[in-house]
Amino acid sequence: MSSTAELRGTAAPLEKTPLETYVPPAKPSLIGLSRAELAERLGEIGVPPRQQKMRVQQLWHWIYFRGARSFDEMTSVSKETRTGLAERFTVDRPEVVAEQISNDGTRKWLLRLPSGDALQKAHEVECVYIPETDRGTLCVSSQVGCTLNCAFCHTGTQRLVRNLTAGEIVGQVMVARDRLNDWADRETPHGNRLVTNVVMMGMGEPLYNFDAVREALLIVSDNEGIGISRRRITLSTSGVVPNIARAGEEIGVMLAISLHAVRDELRNELVPLNRKYPIAELLQACRDYPGASNARRITFEYVMLKGVNDSLDDAKLLVKLLKGIPAKINLIPFNPWPGSRYECSDWEQIEKFSEYVFNAGYSSPVRTPRGRDILAACGQLKSETEKLSARERQALRAMAMTD
Ligand code: SAH
Ligand code: SF4
Repeated sequence: MSSTAELRGTAAPLEKTPLETYVPPAKPSLIGLSRAELAERLGEIGVPPRQQKMRVQQLWHWIYFRGARSFDEMTSVSKETRTGLAERFTVDRPEVVAEQISNDGTRKWLLRLPSGDALQKAHEVECVYIPETDRGTLCVSSQVGCTLNCAFCHTGTQRLVRNLTAGEIVGQVMVARDRLNDWADRETPHGNRLVTNVVMMGMGEPLYNFDAVREALLIVSDNEGIGISRRRITLSTSGVVPNIARAGEEIGVMLAISLHAVRDELRNELVPLNRKYPIAELLQACRDYPGASNARRITFEYVMLKGVNDSLDDAKLLVKLLKGIPAKINLIPFNPWPGSRYECSDWEQIEKFSEYVFNAGYSSPVRTPRGRDILAACGQLKSETEKLSARERQALRAMAMTD
């Protein structure tokens, strides 16, 4: 059913173009494979079934605990198996094409992923590390771009969209550990790590890439490998209601909801997916979220847009709506990007809003924008990758033929 705004032709489309497909490289990386899948690959290179379990344990340790970057390093694995693996596979992570360090210590990596099409520019995603006194949070992407187009989000303006594979999602955590020299050494297993938390708050809608995100997070949280506990992993969604319960049951991580508005009319505009899954349905899914409790609260993200959603009436309705849900509220000052049409609320207004919510009994920290100088803050991520137009591709093909 179309909304009135859609009939008037003023509303942004709910979702964009079909997804691009992923073409794996000729020599695929083992990163992102589960134990069962690793056993299969070992079978392919002739490791007999009775040895597979032990070899999988070794590989798991080298890849996900030690961060080995080549099979050569895996000295406890037999030479023959290492050679066999190296002929068919790699342990490559996404390629880092740029690293930017903000004056507040935030780091942003631009990662290049294979596109599988020589005539198409490589796919790119961004990944951001935010150091704080008591933790280090890695903001991970789930898609190249995003099929949704929230009105205030830079990623939503990107044309090209493709789901990341589980390996490319886990690969972001591994790249961060590589670049920060943050792998375990034998003496201090799991001690004093820099990356302690993961938030699925980079580019893309994680619940629209459910299977890969689940596989990746199960690997990231595995205690014999990367070892970041589920309580330190937060998945943020713009409200893909049917997959919220699945996230709780099948992944078991902390949940964050990008609410941003308390009335359907406004949320339809800010988060167009609301036209499919309106506020009441979204909040019901939160009430039913498996594992939510006062100790494991659901975070409600609320971007502060000047004169749009930041009145005290909005704050009052917010408190009313969240009644009965173990919640905390995260107020995010709007981060502008080139061409954005909103302004960030005045600081005074953010404080008033926050105070009201706090007095109603909710923790309501205002998220300090980090890495704004390198466009690494919430909603500023947008890789420059754009698909070539059909005409550009035709011209390239013609050029290739005349060479
Ligand atoms: N797609 C998911 C996760 C990625 S966005 C989601 O929407 O939840 C992570 C958070 O940043 C979301 O709450 C998103 O709404 C918010 N955000 C997007 N653009 C922003 C901007 N320009 N300023 C501040 N926050 C923004
Ligand atoms: Fe996609 Fe989230 Fe940005 Fe909305 S806010 S366009 S869902 S990345």
